[in-house]
Amino acid sequence: MPLSPEQEAEIAEQRSTARPTLRATSPGMEAHLYTAHPVLDHGFVRVVDYMGDDAAICQAARVSYGRGTKSVSNDEGLIRYLMRHWHSTPFEMCEVKFHVKLPVFVARQWIRHRTANVNEYSARYSILDREFYIPEPDQLAAQSVINNQGRGAALSGEEAQRVLRFLQDDASRAYDHYQEMISTEGQQGLARELARMNLPANIYTQWYWKVDLHNLLHFLRLRADSHAQYEIRVYAETMCRIVADWVPFAYAAFEDYRLGGATLSKTALDCLRRMLKGEEVTQENSGMSKGEWREFRATLD
Ligand SMILES: Cc1cc2nc3c(=O)[nH]c(=O)nc-3n(C[C@H](O)[C@H](O)[C@H](O)COP(=O)(O)OP(=O)(O)OC[C@H]3O[C@@H](n4cnc5c(N)ncnc54)[C@H](O)[C@@H]3O)c2cc1C
Repeated sequence: MPLSPEQEAEIAEQRSTARPTLRATSPGMEAHLYTAHPVLDHGFVRVVDYMGDDAAICQAARVSYGRGTKSVSNDEGLIRYLMRHWHSTPFEMCEVKFHVKLPVFVARQWIRHRTANVNEYSARYSILDREFYIPEPDQLAAQSVINNQGRGAALSGEEAQRVLRFLQDDASRAYDHYQEMISTEGQQGLARELARMNLPANIYTQWYWKVDLHNLLHFLRLRADSHAQYEIRVYAETMCRIVADWVPFAYAAFEDYRLGGATLSKTALDCLRRMLKGEEVTQENSGMSKGEWREFRATLD
C-alpha cells in the first residue's frame, strides 16, 4: 500500500479544489495532477505541478506573442522537426515537478541525473517508515552469465525462499535496531542522522524532483531502456505514460526518434549502404569490432 488513508484524503482534497487560471494547461496532465501512480511494492510517482504543453514548445520555437499555434498539424510537424534536429531549448520551456517514493538503491541511480532539482525527505529530521522493497518472485533473478550488469532467469525452489527470507529478516532486524537506537525510553536515544546508517538500501525514501522536458526525455531514454535495471525502469515507464498524456506530440516524436530510433556510426552507415547495394557484409569485412557488429545486427534485426 503506497499511500495511507490520510495521504489519499489529502490528495483527494487537492484534486477536488479547482482554480481558474490564465495559464496554458494540458488536459492530459490535468487528469494526472496529484494522482499517485503505484510503482514497485510501496513506491509511487505523482505529478505535483507542471508548466507548458505541446503549444508552449512551438510558442518558444517561434518566439511568438500568442499561443503559438498556427494549426495542430503545423505544431506536430514543428515538434518532430525540433526533435529530429536536436533543437533542445524549446523542450526546456516545459517543466514538471514529481513527488516520487522509491527505494534508496534506486535513488542512488536516479540522482546521477544532475539536470534536475531535488529535495529529499530528511532522515536527520524525521523517522523513516518501516517499508522495504522486496522483489516479486519473478524479479528475484540469478546473476546473468552473459551480462555482468544484468540478471538471468528467476531463482526457484529452496534458493528463492532462502533469499526472500534473508531480505525480509535482515530488513526487519535492522529496522528493529534502528527503532531501539532512537528510542528515548529509559535512554538518551541516538541521533536519527546516525541511527539511519544501519538501514539497508532497500528502504524507501521520498523526494520532489523537478526537471524540464528536454532533460526528462534524456532521463527516460536511458532509464526506460531495456538496459536499465528493472527497479528504475518501472518508474521511467510510469513517467513515460504521464508524459505521453501531457505533451502527446513531443512524446510521439521522442518515441519515434529516440526510444524507437537508433544512431549509426559512419562505419555502420557505410556497411548499410554496401548491404543495400547487394554486397555481402560480414563482421570481418565491416571494419567493426565483434561487439559493434553484434549491436549493429541487433539494430537491424
Ligand atoms: C544502463 C546504465 C548503466 C550505468 N552504469 C553506471 C555505472 O556502472 N557506474 C556509474 O558510475 N554510472 C553508471 N550509469 C550512470 C551514467 O553514467 C550517468 O551518470 C547517468 O545516466 C546520468 O546521465 P547524464 O550525465 O547524461 O545525465 P544528467 O546528469 O541529467 O546530464 C544531462 C547532460 O547534461 C550534461 N552535463 C550535466 N552535468 C554536466 C557536467 N557537470 N559537466 C559536463 N556536462 C554535464 C551532459 O551532456 C549530460 O549528458 C549508468 C547509466 C545507465 C543508464
